[in-house]
Amino acid sequence: MKLSQSDPQIFQLIQKEEKRQASTLELIASENHVSPAVMEAAGSCLTNKYAEGYPAARYYQGCGNYDEIETLAIERAKEMFSCKFANVQPHSGASANLAAFWAMMQPGDTFISLNLASGGHLSHGMKLNASAKFYQPAHYELDPKTELIDFDSVRAKARELKPKMILCGYSAYPRIIDFKKFREIADEVGALLMADIAHIAGLVVGGEHPSPFPYAHVVTTTTHKTLRGPRGGLILTNDEELAKQINRAVFPGLQGGPLMHIIAAKAVAFGEALKPEYKAYIQQVVKNAKALAEALKARGYRLVSGGTDNHLMLLDLRAKDPDLTGAEVALALEKGGIVANMNGIPNDPRPPKVTSGIRLGTPAITTRGLKEADMATVADIIDRVIGARKDDAALAKIREEVAALCERFPMPH
Ligand code: PLP
Repeated sequence: MKLSQSDPQIFQLIQKEEKRQASTLELIASENHVSPAVMEAAGSCLTNKYAEGYPAARYYQGCGNYDEIETLAIERAKEMFSCKFANVQPHSGASANLAAFWAMMQPGDTFISLNLASGGHLSHGMKLNASAKFYQPAHYELDPKTELIDFDSVRAKARELKPKMILCGYSAYPRIIDFKKFREIADEVGALLMADIAHIAGLVVGGEHPSPFPYAHVVTTTTHKTLRGPRGGLILTNDEELAKQINRAVFPGLQGGPLMHIIAAKAVAFGEALKPEYKAYIQQVVKNAKALAEALKARGYRLVSGGTDNHLMLLDLRAKDPDLTGAEVALALEKGGIVANMNGIPNDPRPPKVTSGIRLGTPAITTRGLKEADMATVADIIDRVIGARKDDAALAKIREEVAALCERFPMPH
């Protein structure tokens, strides 16, 4: 029976969500719009099957097709990142990270990372996360002046704590990550280097960000951000022994049956990412981010670190008006048809549910076909929304304007 008949409530909510996505501009840096092909694989009959284990080593019968699908996903992942081993089973980025930790460390071991408030991710040692319950996190810092990674602080922390692992890769860092420098410090103290490239994976594949290989011992990523696949995680390495540990950590360490419909969708997305059109897409993502950053600066906004090298930027709203908060602006933007998230800026005096910043990214609007010239329009709309943040009628008018703009840029079809 069709969903519309069997469960009209959920059907209608999905319909409403389709409309919301089509009629708003998605500027959340960690989101994207997948292709219909990825969507089809994710919504396929593969959801019915248990396939515990790995290709040709399953604990259930009937897995022949699944072996071929997972092998294709693995081979394409290896080709994308030019590496030797890939585990495509992690259900999410956070679970990929935990499995990588599990493979590299023993409970109680120390690792160093950038903390959440400075742009790291909660799975990098935030106190409520498993990464801090099972391991001992400590944090290196950003340089307060440049707002870039402070390698003196990385080196000092590494020398002081002799961590088992050094973690780089972030959720809200707009600049290039120097993996080579991290590896030099890791070698100096005998630590493993892990790179969580969840945000920039697509840029790495498209040649717009240096690769973490050959420097990182283990690389993790999500598959749903710039990589434009289904929601999920991925772990990569060149080290045969670590690859074995990673496979054991994912299954049976942390997961049971893999989500084979999602693994098929990952394979489809990886296939897309290996095509020349994807390279052009990623180049446009970066061009759009630069153009949006410049257009916002021209309107009086300060960007953390002064701009962006990648797909995202962090607006420090206080330069425009000291009273502006991330929470208030994110809400106003939503009313105006622009979807973004509040984000702490480095050394933010405000708490995480208020913040002084907004994080913006261009992966999703680039998928819809917006180009550099459209970024001035987007910046202008953002600026007008912020000016009209207390005026719901004005925001509703802007929302109509955004919906009209969106009609020119259809969702992937
Ligand atoms: N790592 C980084 C750097 C992230 O930005 C994110 C998500 O935003 C994750 C890991 C976690 O991914 P997920 O939400 O799929 O668990």
